[in-house]
Amino acid sequence: MTLHIPFDNSYAALPDGFFARVQPEPVKAPSLIAVNAPLARDLGIDGLDDPNLAAVFAGNAVPGGAAPLAQLYAGHQFGQYNPQLGDGRAVLLGETVGTDGIRRDIQLKGSGRTPYSRMGDGRAWLGPVLREYVVSEAMHALGVPTTRALAAVRTGEKVVRERPLPGAVLTRVAQSHLRVGTFQVFAARGDTTALQTMFDYAVDRHYPDATDPARFLDAVMHKQSALVAQWLSLGFIHGVMNTDNCSISGETIDYGPCAFMDSYHPETVYSSIDRFGRYSYAAQADMIVWNMAQLATALLSLMPDPEAAVDPFTAQIHTMPEMIRAEWLTRFAAKIGISDPKPEDAQLVTDLLSLMQVSETDFTNTFRGLVDGTARDQFADPTGFDQWAVGWQARLDGEDDPQGRMRSVNPALIPRNHRIEDMITAAIAGDDAPFHRLNAAYANPYEDDESCNDLRLPPRSNEVVHATFCGT
Ligand code: AMP
Ligand code: MG
Repeated sequence: MTLHIPFDNSYAALPDGFFARVQPEPVKAPSLIAVNAPLARDLGIDGLDDPNLAAVFAGNAVPGGAAPLAQLYAGHQFGQYNPQLGDGRAVLLGETVGTDGIRRDIQLKGSGRTPYSRMGDGRAWLGPVLREYVVSEAMHALGVPTTRALAAVRTGEKVVRERPLPGAVLTRVAQSHLRVGTFQVFAARGDTTALQTMFDYAVDRHYPDATDPARFLDAVMHKQSALVAQWLSLGFIHGVMNTDNCSISGETIDYGPCAFMDSYHPETVYSSIDRFGRYSYAAQADMIVWNMAQLATALLSLMPDPEAAVDPFTAQIHTMPEMIRAEWLTRFAAKIGISDPKPEDAQLVTDLLSLMQVSETDFTNTFRGLVDGTARDQFADPTGFDQWAVGWQARLDGEDDPQGRMRSVNPALIPRNHRIEDMITAAIAGDDAPFHRLNAAYANPYEDDESCNDLRLPPRSNEVVHATFCGT
């Protein structure tokens, strides 16, 4: 085997009780769909010319130095606490310390059953695997903290969902897979020793300066505030912001029913299981605060006097909406060309968003249109936009290079739902060309590339995707 992954595993060295050692379950006929060579290089991986890549990334051949395990965690799912989740269809192979000095997990997703599989088959089908590959890599190219995709393989086996579908395995890379739920599981059990060990591990790995729970909470809150503001600024809807899908490192994790909005409406929901809009576009800011409150609750038992810590922790959580609002204003002000926003600039942004909502304009193309002067064409009746633009132009007076600023934050390309669906349909039929095309196109989302003009189009009425599904 020429493939060399320089594993340097820390999680596997934690004491018993944090994970279950488990081997990935081999599959019948692995075949490689893609390997992400630039990411592999950044992770310090050599030997991608290895003929066994498919076997490795399917879990059939465990590379030297790996210490496969499934992590234990819990979580609130749609507000309901589930005391035991864990990696039910994923196996952490191990970690590498990349060329940037950052430690990252390498995890197989869809690699078979684990002690945490509950009723599940431990598998993933091709659709969600390719969707996560394309969307997570697009998010990275858009500049959003996110897990990455290192490889995708077909398993040569069927998985049974509503119908038999081709199976696949995704290799996911993350700064870690620690979640809010990783803390909740030990706090709920009253296992303060394990909770303290997990806390020390997380501090060491992610926030070395945050040596007490309050500072740690603050650090995670800041990362999550910045993250959700970035999602909002791109029209991204995560779709299933359960506490087990909320990462301690502040990366976007778990691309299930996620979607980018086409036409703007703050109440947009795609996920088929989100019947009450808990995780709608605009609700995401509140939901991340809710998740941080669950983290705070879990951290309480690490305090010398948990009872006395309730009020200060509550006060800390109450600082978060303002944190998010500030991040939101910075992001959205930049989207209209403003570099150093004043509080009153929020009105200019919300006025534009209101016009967009009423006219149901395309979120991405309206903002990108501010760069090249085509934004007004998005409005069936541009009267309101024209009035807005007078005040906007006046505000931009004296701004240095607003066009350049807008161009760098308003993407031309986002992974549109109908393109993703078409790509999956083609891949089921054995044609991976659309998958490769989308990956290549979304790698440069802020460029104007004429060959990608078709990818900028919103869906026609018969192409609109109304619902997205979890990968289960
Ligand atoms: P998710 O919706 O991907 O966040 O998954 C929620 C929980 O369900 C996690 O504990 C997963 O590991 C588990 N899970 C999801 N799909 C499967 C599956 N096909 N087999 C076993 N466990 C699964
Ligand atoms: Mg999950």
